[in-house]
Amino acid sequence: IFVPAARVSRIKISPTTAASARVRELKAAGRDIVDMAIGEPDFDTPDHVKTAAHEAIDRGETKYTAVNGTVALRKAIIADYKRRLGLDYADNEICVGGGAKQILFLALMASVEEGAEVIVPAPYWVSYPDMVIANDGKPVIVRCSENQGFKLTAEALEAAITPKTRWLILNAPSNPTGAAYSRADLKAIGDVLLRHPDVLVLSDDIYDQIWYRDEPATTLAAAVPELKDRVLLANGVSKTYAMTGWRIGYAAGPAPLVAAINKLQSQMSSCPSSISQAAAAHALTSDQSFVRDSVKLYKERRDYACARLNAIPGLSCLVPDGAFYLYPGCAGVIGKTTPGGKVIESDLDFVLYLLDDVGVAAVQGAAYGLSPYFRLSIATSMEAIKAACDRIEKACRALR
Ligand code: PLP
Repeated sequence: IFVPAARVSRIKISPTTAASARVRELKAAGRDIVDMAIGEPDFDTPDHVKTAAHEAIDRGETKYTAVNGTVALRKAIIADYKRRLGLDYADNEICVGGGAKQILFLALMASVEEGAEVIVPAPYWVSYPDMVIANDGKPVIVRCSENQGFKLTAEALEAAITPKTRWLILNAPSNPTGAAYSRADLKAIGDVLLRHPDVLVLSDDIYDQIWYRDEPATTLAAAVPELKDRVLLANGVSKTYAMTGWRIGYAAGPAPLVAAINKLQSQMSSCPSSISQAAAAHALTSDQSFVRDSVKLYKERRDYACARLNAIPGLSCLVPDGAFYLYPGCAGVIGKTTPGGKVIESDLDFVLYLLDDVGVAAVQGAAYGLSPYFRLSIATSMEAIKAACDRIEKACRALR
């Protein structure tokens, strides 16, 4: 008889994974669902990246690699951080894993002692609190309201730091809001961190190339160079190059932390897939037109969807700076009654109403730690986005 270990009982299955499973079930049962809960690009991996993988197989690159990844991939990562952010990293400051998710988990496993606190600004990516809890740490959730652009302020950070604080997690552009920090925002946060030398920063920049503003995206290690040795800068190929299934993520940061991550990796998976590493190295170093073309399409979708949502009574949507999600507020529908006679009391009630009555799958804001909101993904066709907006509008107009 199997009884899970305490660390398993303490955490839950990712709510977005659960939402995707529910959509698959409903579709299989014949329901007409517009899926706006997706967390991955709708585009296919570029053909030239697939070709690079075939070529790696043909060259016999089908064996274990070094724990910290192939030389080619590490060089590609170093060059990419230099090219895009002007940051210099040495080879022993780079680690590679089976997705950024694995690297983030290993970083926490490598550094969090029992009871250590990890500051997680909300709304947050659903996995952060559970990753901290699974590694015996304590997530300290800091609410970042819409009127602060869903961003952590220096004051809120200062108030959350205690002698037990080990990490601050920053994720920009954010999943679920698409909010990003300006250089000035980062300098203010940096001033607080410089006063607290024991706090490390996990900077999850996985969406930093899905970016809509004219001025380039920046990151804490670039905006406040004095902090670079305390920042683990995580990224990966999943979102930028539509390579979620290839499972390659990586990070750059202080050598002792990277060595600890690699030590764990040596006992956990030895290394990520050799073939995927070859494909990722090619993606990072070859023609970047896929990135430009896909971002142009995401931007058109963002502009269309935000305009439509902001015209729907009861909803309001901040325009995201990056990533492929919208996080509309639904305060205006709370307390209203559906045609079926149910009162909408929460964002969960609202997304269930959308799913049941008009066939739109979204994720409730409660899953991201800030209500009443819901997350819509725009990593789907314009046709699906139009259908979703029509249906959401119909659903909101039917409330009394
Ligand atoms: N970080 C954030 C904020 C994400 O949204 C995701 C994926 O949903 C990841 C990390 C994980 O990406 P990967 O596919 O590299 O594991």
